[in-house]
Amino acid sequence: MTTQPSSAVAADVMIRLRGLTKHYQMGHSLVKALDGVELEIRRAEFLSITGASGSGKSTMMHILGCLDRPTTGTYELNGEMVSSLSDRKLAIVRNRQIGFVFQTFNLINRTTALDNVAVPLIYARQSNTRAAARAALDRVGLAQRARHRSSELSGGERQRVAIARAIVNNPVLLLADEPTGNLDTVTGEQIMGIFHELHRSGVTIVLVTHEPDIAAQAQRIIRMRDGKIIDDNPVPHP
Ligand code: ADP
Ligand code: MG
Repeated sequence: MTTQPSSAVAADVMIRLRGLTKHYQMGHSLVKALDGVELEIRRAEFLSITGASGSGKSTMMHILGCLDRPTTGTYELNGEMVSSLSDRKLAIVRNRQIGFVFQTFNLINRTTALDNVAVPLIYARQSNTRAAARAALDRVGLAQRARHRSSELSGGERQRVAIARAIVNNPVLLLADEPTGNLDTVTGEQIMGIFHELHRSGVTIVLVTHEPDIAAQAQRIIRMRDGKIIDDNPVPHP
C-alpha cells in the first residue's frame, strides 16, 4: 500500500462526522443513541457497520441519510456542511445524492414495481420518469416484473425493487440498514451481488448488518457499542 499526501487523502473523503451526538429525552432519563462519533468515509468506499441491537446503528444511518439531524456535532457530505442546512435544502441533498434501503423494503403495497421506483423522480419533478424507472429495474434484473404490484412479489424481488427505487436518481451514496435481515441466505447473496455491482460502478455504500459473512464482504467494518465506534478495521480481501 502506498502512502498519500494528506491533501490527497482529504480530497478523497466523502463523509466527515465530528463529535456527533443524538440524545433522546425519555421521561427522566437521557438516551445517548450516539455519543461522540468521529468518522470519515472515502468516496467509493464500501463500509459495513455492525454492533448489538440498540448500539446506535440505525440512528447513525438516519443522520447519514439526512432523514434526521444530530443533537450536536457536524456532518459534512461532499464538502457541504449538511448538519446546518434548512429542511428544504436537506430534502434536496437527500433526493439528489442519497439512496436508502430498509430491512422491511417500505414499498407501497398495491402499486406496481415501476410506480414504486418512480416515486423519487416524481419528488425531483423529473419528466420521463417511466424510462428512468424502467432502467433502474433493469439494473437490478427485474425489468420483467415492472407491471407487478409489490404484494405479488417475493421478499427478494421486493428488496430489488427497493434498491431500484434507491438508485433511480443515481445517488453517490447508498445506505442500507439490514437489507438482508428478512431474506434467506441465497436471496441475501443475490442482494449483495447488486451492492457489489453498484460499488464497482463507483457508488459509496454503507451497510448495517448483524451477519458476519455479510459484513466481511465490505472493504472496512466498524463496530458500534452504546452510541460509540469501538472498532474500525479494514477487511483483507485476497
Ligand atoms: P440499532 O439500530 O443499533 O439497534 P438504534 O439506533 O435504533 O440502534 O437505537 C439506539 C438507541 O437509541 C436505543 O437505545 C434506542 O432505544 C434509542 N432510540 C432510537 N430512536 C429513538 C427515538 N426516536 N426515541 C427514543 N429513543 C430512541
Ligand atoms: Mg437498527
